[in-house]
Amino acid sequence: MQTAEVIIIGGGPAGSSCAWRLRQQGVDTLLLDAQAFPRLKLCAGWITPAVVHDLQLDISSYPRRFNSFNHLVVHLFGFTFNLNSLQHSIRRFEFDEWLLQRSGVPVLQHNVREIVKENNYYVLDGQYRARYLIGAGGTKCPVYRSFFRELNPRARELQTVTLEHEYAYEYTDPRCHLWFFKNKLPGYAWYVPKAQGYLNIGLGGMALTLKQRADDIWRHWDWFIKELQRKRLIGDFDAQPKGYSYYLRQAIDTVRIDNAFIIGDAVGLATVDMAEGIGPAVRSGLRAAAAITQGHAYSIKTLETYTITKPWAHWWLDKILAR
Ligand SMILES: Cc1cc2nc3c(=O)[nH]c(=O)nc-3n(C[C@H](O)[C@H](O)[C@H](O)COP(=O)(O)OP(=O)(O)OC[C@H]3O[C@@H](n4cnc5c(N)ncnc54)[C@H](O)[C@@H]3O)c2cc1C
Repeated sequence: MQTAEVIIIGGGPAGSSCAWRLRQQGVDTLLLDAQAFPRLKLCAGWITPAVVHDLQLDISSYPRRFNSFNHLVVHLFGFTFNLNSLQHSIRRFEFDEWLLQRSGVPVLQHNVREIVKENNYYVLDGQYRARYLIGAGGTKCPVYRSFFRELNPRARELQTVTLEHEYAYEYTDPRCHLWFFKNKLPGYAWYVPKAQGYLNIGLGGMALTLKQRADDIWRHWDWFIKELQRKRLIGDFDAQPKGYSYYLRQAIDTVRIDNAFIIGDAVGLATVDMAEGIGPAVRSGLRAAAAITQGHAYSIKTLETYTITKPWAHWWLDKILAR
């Protein structure tokens, strides 16, 4: 049986950030992911300056596609305006692999199915064991499933449904566009140019609200493609988008049980206002590492700082759900 002090399940931004910090502190860490990297991860790939800061990313030497916007073009209730805000875009296909490599920990491809606790060890599929276990497996994380699900059941009203497509495209408008609530979408649509001729288009909304209205995310997708073509933002388009679902942040109480932690989408940490998940994933990974190496607390309270203020976020969500 292969033994490590810490095993991390999942090599997305949550898992790789945690691995990176543990490795810096000299902790014997192993990371398992079901997929071989680089792997497809559905995501618009928009990251904030806070993510760049938390990851100590030197933009000038980052060796993959990296794009920056000084403002966002917002389409809301028939109005279009520029929102001044520095934001960035990356391709997740590249970014996640780079972060994982940078972490410097050994990575094995393994789909974790069964986790049991034996004495002071977590034993994974009878093949791996560790004293600390980090669940960074996203929405379907096996650590969440094994130890946290009953304490923290997912809140259905905070489940998102998304469709997106990323492809090589020589766009002519290099700005990032966002459409909010168009045609009663309980969410927003995006057009996010990446560096060197890649484009990500997609939309997402609250799954339960759509269901209650007998609405369909595909109806919104059809409108969106026509709108992008009408604005000449894209040309002929016959690709099928892919869909994925994840959870926005709810009042979760338990993110650590003994030496088992959950981080990132495994908790359901994406912000309620913009469904931003990469920043919370990174920060929770770093916090979990600090809990192991420095005995820091790891709780929802310590994760509080990166969310937009709660009253604003909940006002926003109420507006989305009420429309
Ligand atoms: C369409 C879409 C657009 C989005 N756009 C943005 C955006 O622009 N900006 C933003 O901040 N957020 C965005 N998000 C949210 C963001 O993608 C997630 O919040 C973020 O990826 C969470 O990171 P993570 O590391 O927790 O999980 P993930 O990135 O999902 O990584 C989980 C990893 O765990 C592995 N895994 C799962 N189960 C197992 C298992 N049993 N055994 C081993 N490995 C396993 C998976 O293979 C995967 O590599 C978007 C999400 C979607 C769906």
